[in-house]
Amino acid sequence: LVEIKNLHKSFGSNHVLRGIDFTVEQGEVVCVIGPSGSGKSTLLRCVNLLEQPQEGQVFVRGEEITDPDCHLDAARQQIGIVFQQFNLFPHLSVLGNCTVAQRTVLKRGAEDADRVARANLERVGLSDKINAFPAQLSGGQQQRVAIARALSMDPALMLFDEPTSALDPELVGDVLTVMRKLALDGMTMLVVTHEMAFAREVADRVVFMDGGVIVEQGPPAEVIGAPKEERTRTFLRRVL
Ligand code: ATP
Ligand code: MG
Repeated sequence: LVEIKNLHKSFGSNHVLRGIDFTVEQGEVVCVIGPSGSGKSTLLRCVNLLEQPQEGQVFVRGEEITDPDCHLDAARQQIGIVFQQFNLFPHLSVLGNCTVAQRTVLKRGAEDADRVARANLERVGLSDKINAFPAQLSGGQQQRVAIARALSMDPALMLFDEPTSALDPELVGDVLTVMRKLALDGMTMLVVTHEMAFAREVADRVVFMDGGVIVEQGPPAEVIGAPKEERTRTFLRRVL
């Protein structure tokens, strides 16, 4: 579904991604772990070209989105993204947050948009908050609205950048439960996370990044359970 070839990204003289090659298959859940500043968010942002890489290619469903002739908006529509900060529209209700892009971007009619939004809000366990406004919700509820909003665009791929890092500890579980359910439903997911228990349990593959390169990747039982590389072991000793 996603193929990345020899990706390089610098901010000025800061060479952040130093030749990344990897793929995400349809239905696969890939968790990206690694120290702060290793380039995890930058990699995620390159997948939908929120950052423009200097070198390398990104393919989504076989289409090269790094090609200047690519219809980027169409490619981006297939990719949902959830950030650490929920970025909900404060002036819109929960339902409004989940319908506005369906209507403006996908040109769905009001009834269809409404139906899709309600179904996804039910999926994240927020059917009873449809008419609430973001300020009336807990962080965990807001993050689940952000997930429902992204799902309402019918993405082929969901990107998550530390979706639980801004949450109070007692609210993390609800969001992870929703993500676990999504994974079981077969959603293709690329997840940057510090939640090692989640990665171990849900990921099909774990990618360990350090210094802008992929140091090692494989099934969680190998990368987290029995890492081959010293850098991975050092990192895990600090976070586990
Ligand atoms: P964290 O775990 O702290 O989120 P990360 O692995 O996600 O870290 P990135 O956010 O990808 O790391 O950042 C990698 C490097 O790129 C850092 O040195 C950061 O300062 C730099 N960087 C990221 N975004 C920008 C930007 N928009 N402009 C300049 N430098 C940036
Ligand atoms: Mg980050």
